[in-house]
Amino acid sequence: MCLDWLVIGGGIHGVHIAARLIGEAGVAPQRLRIVDPGDKLLARWNACTVTVGMTHLRSPSVHNIDLSPFSLQRFADPGSRTAGLFSPPYDRPALSLFNTHCARVMETFGLADLHIRDRAESCSVDRDGVAVQLSGGQEITGRKLVLAIGASEQPEWPDWAPRSDLRVHHLFEPGFDGWPSSTETVVVVGGGISAAQAALRLTEEGHQVQLVSRHALREHQFDSDPGWLGPKFMAGFDREGDYNRRRKLITEARHIGSVPPEVRDALSQAIARDQLLLHEGEVEELVARREGLVLRLTTQGEVEAERALLATGFASHRPGGSMIDELIASASLPRARCGYPVVDSALRWHPRVHVSGPLAELELGPASRNIAGARRAGDRLVVAAGAS
Ligand SMILES: Cc1cc2nc3c(=O)[nH]c(=O)nc-3n(C[C@H](O)[C@H](O)[C@H](O)COP(=O)(O)OP(=O)(O)OC[C@H]3O[C@@H](n4cnc5c(N)ncnc54)[C@H](O)[C@@H]3O)c2cc1C
Repeated sequence: MCLDWLVIGGGIHGVHIAARLIGEAGVAPQRLRIVDPGDKLLARWNACTVTVGMTHLRSPSVHNIDLSPFSLQRFADPGSRTAGLFSPPYDRPALSLFNTHCARVMETFGLADLHIRDRAESCSVDRDGVAVQLSGGQEITGRKLVLAIGASEQPEWPDWAPRSDLRVHHLFEPGFDGWPSSTETVVVVGGGISAAQAALRLTEEGHQVQLVSRHALREHQFDSDPGWLGPKFMAGFDREGDYNRRRKLITEARHIGSVPPEVRDALSQAIARDQLLLHEGEVEELVARREGLVLRLTTQGEVEAERALLATGFASHRPGGSMIDELIASASLPRARCGYPVVDSALRWHPRVHVSGPLAELELGPASRNIAGARRAGDRLVVAAGAS
């Protein structure tokens, strides 16, 4: 059967876009599928957020995956506020509330039934449609493709970090099982919110924790200025026709490696209580000894631990690997010098291929990867679906 819409990626972006296409663009559910290797939709989101132990989202409740931005507020019990399910400032929802709401959205649109639990290995496009080959051997075809593949499958491993030492783990490695099962000395490497949250989780569980950040803690409420969600900054971004300069604007706008005030306060308290040691410096070498790990810093300092957890985020190169490389080659798809797609205002990379998340950031700007970016992509795709 030839479907109308194939969405590759069942994360926050793919799920939100599927809901918008069904709920607002009138796409019949039986004409849409979401391809994702997870057991359930949102598996990567759930794994990453549970691992870092975050209690509340960094973004406000209007950034949710339902059609209406106010859906999460309406969904919450009247007593939620007093129960701590919204955290000031900016009404940031508790992770548990956000996830229950996501489950409700998926149920409303019957998205679990549209989930094909498989990996897209390659895809090809022509004038008539799109064909996607799955790793299980099946081929599915459709009229339109949405690439919502995110970056969560490409954790950034620093060069000095061995991949084969069972005491060294990346928090966002698919299948992560590096959490200590008994009390240990643990070094967390990274200076952003995930490193801070993981370090705090470890202190709460009674481990001896050291945090190594290559810069002093940077405090920002959000990971980019909210002005990037509207015309304040996006008007200038849209006017910029040079994609290399757009990339520069994105890089400068992102508060990479920053923590919001409440996380910074919690870190300061843990440091004051001697539960956490903060080292400012860059790791240049990890020496793995039988009795433990030694991280040598460029500041000449050394940090010893039984376990190292990397919270170094995601690699910045274009996600999608060989599937996207081959699609680019076969369909001559345009890219900027940074390798990322050049798309039109409908996030169309090809008449039959739309993108979201990192792949859409040269069009949607610094917030493209976030939940707000999923909502912006949803807006554009609903319009595109209506016009097609
Ligand atoms: C710990 C953490 C906390 C965050 N908190 C916030 C927050 O509070 N607010 C906010 O706005 N943003 C937040 N973000 C950022 C962002 O919103 C999330 O990372 C979000 O999950 C990104 O969604 P996504 O769908 O683009 O990507 P992903 O979650 O990476 O989902 C993409 C999916 O595509 C699948 N996939 C990839 N390749 C293929 C293929 N070839 N075939 C089939 N499937 C494929 C992947 O397996 C994955 O399941 C947070 C990120 C992290 C890591």
